[in-house]
Amino acid sequence: MNETLALEANPFEGDFGSPGDRLLSKKIVTLRKERECDHCGQMAMRGTRCRTQSEIFDGALHRYTWCSDCTDALAKSDEDEGDAWEARNRRNF
Ligand SMILES: [Zn+2]
Repeated sequence: MNETLALEANPFEGDFGSPGDRLLSKKIVTLRKERECDHCGQMAMRGTRCRTQSEIFDGALHRYTWCSDCTDALAKSDEDEGDAWEARNRRNF
């Protein structure tokens, strides 16, 4: 997986925020405990490389974790125009 590309992709493309919205951090980490993926809903497993992000959105702190499969789909979204990412959306399952 190209982790630089996975970080550069915007998971929230098309969503509109408010003026106070602020990105606090985004990084690719090795998960220390499993968590539910915020995109596809499957479990992001311990020990896998996953993108995480924290931000202020609508005045509240939000933390996101994307499983390694979704992170991989993000890394490809530059070349496939987001098809792999959109296909993993939990609403499509
Ligand atoms: Zn996922």
